[in-house]
This record gives sequence, C-alpha cells and structure tokens, in this order.
Amino acid sequence: MAIQNVMVIGAGQMGSGIAQVCAQAGFNVKLNDMKQEAFDRGIAAITKNLARNVEKGRLSEEEKTAILGRITPSLDLNDAHDADIVIEAAVENMEIKHTIFKTLDEVAPKHAILASNTSSLPITEIAAATNRPEQVIGMHFMNPVPVMKLVEIIRGLATTDEVYKTVEEMTVKLSKTPVECNDFPGFVSNRILMPMINEAIFTLQDGVASKEAIDDIMRLGMNHPMGPLQLADFIGLDTCLYIMEVLHEGFGDSKYRPSPLLRQYVKAGWLGKKTGRGFYEYS
Ligand code: NAD
Repeated sequence: MAIQNVMVIGAGQMGSGIAQVCAQAGFNVKLNDMKQEAFDRGIAAITKNLARNVEKGRLSEEEKTAILGRITPSLDLNDAHDADIVIEAAVENMEIKHTIFKTLDEVAPKHAILASNTSSLPITEIAAATNRPEQVIGMHFMNPVPVMKLVEIIRGLATTDEVYKTVEEMTVKLSKTPVECNDFPGFVSNRILMPMINEAIFTLQDGVASKEAIDDIMRLGMNHPMGPLQLADFIGLDTCLYIMEVLHEGFGDSKYRPSPLLRQYVKAGWLGKKTGRGFYEYS
C-alpha cells in the first residue's frame, strides 16, 4: 500500500517530532491534539528545529516553508477520514489509547493502518479496541525523534506481514532504521533501559551519591551520552513511571517496582524538561 496521508495524534514532544520527520519525508501530515495550545507548542518546536537546520545549512528556507506547509492542524479525530496511516503519540495510558483507537477504527478508511508510539503498552491490547487488529502495529520512535535513528516496530498478535512490510518501508522513507520485535512488556528498548533509570532513582533516593555524581559515573564510566537521571528528565518522569508500572504489572515481578522518589516527583508535577523541573531545573 502506498502511504501519502499521515495523521499523528498528540502534539507533545514525540508527536511533534513524528509529524516533523513525516513532513520532511514528503508525506501530508495532520497533527492532532485535544487543545489548540498543545498544537501551537508542537508547531513552535518543529519550527525551531527546522530553523536550526536552516542555520546549519542542512535545509533551505524554501524547504522549511514547504515542510511546515505539509502539516495541518486537527482538533478532531474525525479528520482521520482520509488517513492511510495514523500514528498515535498521546499519553502512555491504556484507557486513553483504547478510546482513541476505538474512535479511529470508526472514522479511518478501511485500508488505514493504526500505529501506536507507545513505549511499553501491549500492542495486542490496544488492537483489541478495534475491529481491525491485523492492521494495528507499534511504531516506537526514540526521543528526540528528528535525531534518533531507531524505530522499534512491534507486531501485535494479529498484525499481518503486509502491514509490517508497509510500516517498515515507510520507516526507511523517514530515513530511520526499523528493527522488529514482538509484543512483550516494555518490548526490548524499555525492558532494558527503564529498570536502569529506575535503579538510578533508587540510588539517588538511598543517598548513595548526588544526582550529578550518578549521572557523571554513568556518562564517564559507561560511555553513555547522558546520565540516567538527565535522560529520565528528557523522557518525562510521568512516562517513566507509566512504563515501570507496565513492566511491574506485566511481569508480576517486584524487581520492576517503581521508585517511591519517582512517584513523588510525578505527584509534585516535576515531570522533567517538559515542565521545567525534574531531577534538574530547565529554563
Ligand atoms: P507529552 O506529554 O509530551 O505529549 C502528549 C500529548 O498528547 C499532549 O500534547 C496531550 O495534550 C496529547 N493528548 C493527550 N490525550 C489526547 C487525546 N485523547 N487526543 C489527542 N491528544 C491527546 O508525551 P510524549 O513524551 O510525547 O509521549 C507520547 C507517547 O509517546 C506516550 O505513549 C509515550 O510513552 C511515548 N514515547 C515517549 C518517549 C519519550 O521519550 N518521551 C519515547 C518514545 C515513546
């Protein structure tokens, strides 16, 4: 199937990045959010990213204008009526994703693929909200989307080979590298990454070292480009907590229990870079 029209649900840090790379690859994009302010913030982030590329000589001013011109705003899921693929990047919450997928199943054309950028929620369970589970798939982009090469592609129990192949080809058109995995809690990326981040938060909570020291040790000692606490701030502490809860529930193993300090920060609204404060402060 040839994909032309893409709809992205959620104009947050991931959704705006996904909309940007899709528009850069020449697709027509509708960027949907519940609130106009969220859409405006998403477009502002895309504009800033593209302007930086113009400054660095990677993009011309005309290309920037053309890319932005391919993104149209949407505040209504009914706008999925002409989508070939919908990529959902709303919050990491099964109830919200179920509601979105149920509506999309009703309004999107029969041929449309429904993809989720979920970090950890079971694709098979998301697909169960629709009457087309064979056309539901996980397309897990990494943060920041315009920079990171990987897209982890997750097959649900019913996902067909044809749908997988279409999504794989689209990912290559986005200049990304698709890597396949099966539907299991946390998939591969977050089953390995998130327990490390959670352990770093326990380490901070136990007073073993300062946040800076924990990050320095992992950066300089393990050659990680950024320390786990800083990375958690970039991902969003609410998203980290949701993922740990999915791992904890999915495996039923106490080794995945979220750190109480992580819970406390989320309750305080200190969600990381996106709210200006997490383990670090951001202006
Ligand atoms: P975010 O909080 O930055 O953005 C979420 C956006 O979704 C918000 O703008 C919100 O208004 C919107 N939204 C919520 N409910 C909606 C609905 N019903 N319809 C339309 N829009 C809705 O979150 P994010 O970091 O962009 O994460 C989005 C998804 O991507 C989550 O499932 C997350 O697990 C996944 N993800 C996140 C990262 C990361 O590093 N942050 C990486 C990979 C995947």
